[in-house]
Amino acid sequence: MYKLTQQSYIAGSWVTPQGEAFNAQNPATQELLADHNNCLEVDVNNAMQAAQDAYPVFSQLSPEKHAEFLITIAEEIEALGDQLLTVCDKESGLGLPRLTGERGRTTGQIKAFAEIVKNASWTQASIDTAIPDRAPLPKPDLRKMLKPIGPVAVFGASNFPFAFGTLGGDTISALAAGNPVVVKGHPSHPATNELMAYAISNAIARCELPKGVFSLLQGNAIPLSVQLVCHPFTEAVGFTGSLGGGRAIMDAAAKRAKPIPVYAEMGSVNPMFFTKNTLDKSGEALAQALAGSVCMGTGQFCTSPGVIVIQKNDAFVSTLAETMNANAKGLMLNAGIGQAFLKGVGQFITSGDVEWVNKNETSLASSIDNALLPPNVVLKTAASAFLQNPQLQNEVFGPATLVVECDDEIEFLAIAKVLEGNLTASIHAVDEDNALVKELLVLLEQKTGRIIFNGFPTGVEVCGSQHHGGPYPASSNGATTSVGIDAIHRFTRFVAYQNTPQQLLPTELQDTNPYNIVRRVNGEFTAKAI
Ligand code: NAP
Repeated sequence: MYKLTQQSYIAGSWVTPQGEAFNAQNPATQELLADHNNCLEVDVNNAMQAAQDAYPVFSQLSPEKHAEFLITIAEEIEALGDQLLTVCDKESGLGLPRLTGERGRTTGQIKAFAEIVKNASWTQASIDTAIPDRAPLPKPDLRKMLKPIGPVAVFGASNFPFAFGTLGGDTISALAAGNPVVVKGHPSHPATNELMAYAISNAIARCELPKGVFSLLQGNAIPLSVQLVCHPFTEAVGFTGSLGGGRAIMDAAAKRAKPIPVYAEMGSVNPMFFTKNTLDKSGEALAQALAGSVCMGTGQFCTSPGVIVIQKNDAFVSTLAETMNANAKGLMLNAGIGQAFLKGVGQFITSGDVEWVNKNETSLASSIDNALLPPNVVLKTAASAFLQNPQLQNEVFGPATLVVECDDEIEFLAIAKVLEGNLTASIHAVDEDNALVKELLVLLEQKTGRIIFNGFPTGVEVCGSQHHGGPYPASSNGATTSVGIDAIHRFTRFVAYQNTPQQLLPTELQDTNPYNIVRRVNGEFTAKAI
């Protein structure tokens, strides 16, 4: 069993930073957990210098060696055994079954990246051979492929301490492309961060890689995050978290003398549209299933359904309210998130446009004392109010949802028109609704990254065809995904090589095609040698 030291892992050494102390809290018992110390600018400088030094070696690994490193990381996570689960449960309150599943998802995604790294197909190699006798000018030999970009800074979220944490999708996709990574650990689960850093430090040693391939900076101070984003060696940022945090990081990156890309995956209200025909047919069952989706994980998913668009249907709303009241209350991840939830619900109610439908003895006032165990909340507003008040599109992170009641199909479509960017949108409809749904679909394609039919947005399949991203404010760049193997493309850029001698070309672009990858050669996709 690993003995936790409350240290950061910087450039191959375990370090006790000299900044202010901070603590995580056990959300179940409210016990304050061990002191950790904030990293300071000197720690950022050491981590980034080591990352920069590691880049020339790490970015040039063979696909086999690179894949072996990723597989070794997954093995080392598995080798942490139950300690990882119990430590993380203490810090997050997420429970062992959920954390066991999330660990499997995390090691599964690492192994999926190892597969694509091994066959080098992610590089999108493209070759146009020379035509020396072309008139009026000869055509040069041009070859291009994706290459890593340099050190990447990663910020994880509190609600997925493994899958979007220290060794989550952002870190692994950046490493898979060949970039060293410096993580700013989430202060809600520092011991989990430390265990993950221990796992990757073992993998680095076993694979004999440069020490600066990975560093973990622990802390909860905003200046630390800004120093990391603004360090001259940082070439890109992967961020998962709130809109406020993501926006602050994006602004800091944009103000740099040399701006860098920030791939921020932020909050979302995941609108769901239920047609009148659907609710007439199966409104009760849908209301019950919806309550399950809203309460899943205490609503602490970026894909939680926060806005429900219906044509007025009192039976649906009252079944939703009853089921939400009957569902057990769940734990929030930390006191800050719990307080933000109560504040968000409070702001909706005091706006004057919103009614709290399932208010009972568990009133907002009585839950202020225990923000960690808030009520499940159903809110309701009229479409006309929603159309006028953009604040009603704010994410309230936790077990709450806002039903928007429309008078007719015109209002139904009008809601889709005013929506901001979202990770997902869902449509519940029957065949008779196809004309309406076609119109809705065109509107939603412009607003969202994933459209779900007759299902719920919670639950994100990890596979090649997944797209987890959406127009701002869901993410900073709706063209990229943070889930699935295409996440690797965020931390790469094309380099083209003109008239380059064979022996100086990257292996992926050489005529003999030793990795047998499918390449675009003179416009045709083929794995053949030239
Ligand atoms: P968070 O508070 O934004 O924290 C994420 C990271 O950003 C932490 O490392 C945090 O460090 C840092 N941070 C926050 N505010 C900052 C600021 N102003 N300046 C610099 N750094 C800052 O997010 P969270 O509460 O852990 O996670 C919940 C949110 O994440 C929800 O909104 C959820 O929808 C979203 N989420 C999105 C996805 C997705 O894929 N789109 C997935 C999971 C979660 P400090 O705490 O030290 O400031």
